[in-house]
Amino acid sequence: MRKRVRVVAVLTAVAALGIGGPLRIHAQNGPAPDWPRLNDETLRHFQALLRLDTQNPPGNEHLVTDFVKSVLEKEGIPVQIFASDPKRPNLVARLKGNGKKQPLLYMGHSDVVTVDPKKWTFPPFSATRDGGYIYGRGSLDDRPHVVAGLMTLLTLKRLNVPLDRDVIFLVESGEEGTTGVGIGFMTSQHADAIAAEYCLAETGSVARVGGKVTYASVQATEKLPRRVELFASGPSGHASRPLQGNAVVHLAAAVAAVGKWRVPMRLNATTTEFFRRMADISPETEAVRYRALLDPASPAAAAADAYFAEHEPGYSSMMRTSISPTMIEGGYRLNVIPSEARASLDVRMLPDENPDQFLAAMTRVINDPAVVARYVNDAGVGRPSGRPARLDSEAFAAIQSAASRNYDTVTIPMMGTGATDMAQVRGKGTECYGIGPAADVEDGPKGYGAHSDQERILESELYRFVRFSYDIVNDLARARAN
Ligand SMILES: [Zn+2]
Repeated sequence: MRKRVRVVAVLTAVAALGIGGPLRIHAQNGPAPDWPRLNDETLRHFQALLRLDTQNPPGNEHLVTDFVKSVLEKEGIPVQIFASDPKRPNLVARLKGNGKKQPLLYMGHSDVVTVDPKKWTFPPFSATRDGGYIYGRGSLDDRPHVVAGLMTLLTLKRLNVPLDRDVIFLVESGEEGTTGVGIGFMTSQHADAIAAEYCLAETGSVARVGGKVTYASVQATEKLPRRVELFASGPSGHASRPLQGNAVVHLAAAVAAVGKWRVPMRLNATTTEFFRRMADISPETEAVRYRALLDPASPAAAAADAYFAEHEPGYSSMMRTSISPTMIEGGYRLNVIPSEARASLDVRMLPDENPDQFLAAMTRVINDPAVVARYVNDAGVGRPSGRPARLDSEAFAAIQSAASRNYDTVTIPMMGTGATDMAQVRGKGTECYGIGPAADVEDGPKGYGAHSDQERILESELYRFVRFSYDIVNDLARARAN
């Protein structure tokens, strides 16, 4: 241990003085962290975080910010707290760089979704270690990013790594459906505190199949959620005398029409690269389908899309603005034909979709003057649209190289079908990339995924993710000789 410390000190001195010679090669990656020791500390902090009950609602994210604040301040890292609700604060910590480059932001959210404790084998806030896993609400979503951001700052600070840019760590509240107190508050009221060139946050992942890493996915853009209401109206009357204008019948036909509508497929830079690289790493039978999608107007693309709609609906959703009817209401008693009925559609738009044109196209598909389609403003649903992150940036290159170093695998950019806090940050012009720890692809369908009743992470993959995060941040922010 002592020897390692001395080597680190020498490397730091060499890097600071810009001395050449054989040591310089080592110094290219900066001083080497003591990973076995950091893993122990990671586990301690991770379990402490998992034991904090920040179910949203109500949130109580101050439990997490208090904890993170005390750990950071103990090591001399200054912390700022921003809160619109004192129980739901956001934390910002910053390591100062020399200002040569614009800051880098690393984000993790402090709330978790609610639990039904009866359904959990291990209590949801126990942070139980069992069979190589750590169980608990938030073990995947999103304590790994909170602990990785924390460990990255601590490590950069302890090793005294000189920085070309500020490294900002944001722990934001309210990600699970109440972004007004979290990222919405930060981007609207305190944008300066988190202004950055690049941002790293949740939603990427490293896929493992049969225990073997297959690729690292990086979220470079995401679909935009919008709520559409279908409103049907007609004459009311006695149900013993059926009416042609029955609003329920008209609504049902409209819901069926939009549900079956194959919205035309369209690619963007991210999805093009996604399907191209998936084709590169897949067996030929699968590669053929991915390649078919690269020409969305072709009959082969339609066939591949039909296959994915059944077997891999996420890929089908990535090809278009998608529609899922999710709620229907109408009528209040059996023998009354109601004059109104309505349905809610969860619409996920491609980032470059034109909302007015899309609604007009939907109206043509419904083709019924008794049914009106309209957008409903819904605070919990709306997110701003931002430019997709570039794939030729320094940040994407750093992620690719860290993925190759830590996982020995390729990086594949993807478009998230769900919404994240990166939407607001992208809205401010920051290039955002979603990264995440490795998980077994088989684990989700078995009921161990994020938001499940047995949420868990592989302990070894938690450590690898901390290191992956550190490598990316270190690569992007560490001061270069010239
Ligand atoms: Zn999350």
